Formats: sequence, C-alpha cells, structure tokens
Amino acid sequence: MTRVYLGLGTNLGRRARNLSAARRRLRERGVRITRRSRVIETEPWGVKDQPRFLNQVVEGDWQGTPRQLLKITQDVEREGGRVRTRRWGPRVIDIDILLYGDERLKLRGLVVPHPRIAERPFVLESLSELGLKRDGRW
Ligand code: AMP
Repeated sequence: MTRVYLGLGTNLGRRARNLSAARRRLRERGVRITRRSRVIETEPWGVKDQPRFLNQVVEGDWQGTPRQLLKITQDVEREGGRVRTRRWGPRVIDIDILLYGDERLKLRGLVVPHPRIAERPFVLESLSELGLKRDGRW
C-alpha cells in the first residue's frame, strides 16, 4: 500500500461537483481516500484569460503501480469530460500525481514528485494543511 497525494483542479462547469465526481471515480477505481484538504479558489496559472480554478489535494492509499495510478487518473480526467484544447487551458478536471510514497520516479510520462509542486502556492498550502513538511525532494 502506498500513500499518495493527488492534486485536483477544475475551472469549467459546476466546479464543486466536478471535484466530488472525481473523488468518487478515483474511489471506484481503487484509490482509498483517507483525507482531503480544503477547496481553494485560485487564479488561472499559465494561460490567464480563463475562469478561476477550484483546487483540492486528496490523500489516499493505493495498491497498484505508479503507471496504473497514472492510467486511472487519466481515465477519470477523460470521464470528467476534459477536452484537451491548449496546454494550461480550461478543463473540467485535471489530476496531478503530486507525491507517491517517498519515491522519486522519472518514467516516460510520469515524474514524481510532480515537478511543479513548488511553483503552485495552493499545492504547498494544501500539503502543509495535511501535515506534510517540505523536504529535499520537492
Ligand atoms: P497536464 O496537461 O498538465 O495535465 O499534463 C499531462 C501530462 O503530464 C501527461 O501526459 C502525463 O503523462 C504527464 N505527467 C508527468 N508527470 C505527471 C504527474 N506526476 N502527474 C500527472 N501527469 C504527469
């Protein structure tokens, strides 16, 4: 069992509902959600001319491999109706694998700890709310 932290973001449609639907779909696919941070509203990052995001970090236990986790987060993004338009553009639901136990991973298509953790204040704030202290990895 691996303790994982996932970053959720949404800026289209009924945003609070998108977050709860994503949490439910993650649970249905085997992520045992143990805790979650408060929901924070943030300014768009990267591309500015788009609606504000709701963001939340969820903590969970995961029994599969990192690749299997990436696969299910991408399935949940797709099920949420995310349409890939432009990089950093609007999306119904975006899921980032922030931390995967204590592991550092550099696989094709999967870098953990997520390289942009430190650039996003809400991520740092939410991880610290969940009691995680910054260490040398992120
Ligand atoms: P984005 O458009 O920001 O959601 O980026 C999605 C791409 O980032 C996908 O192709 C993933 O394979 C890749 N990726 C690399 N590391 C991670 C990670 N830690 N969590 C989620 N996606 C990742």
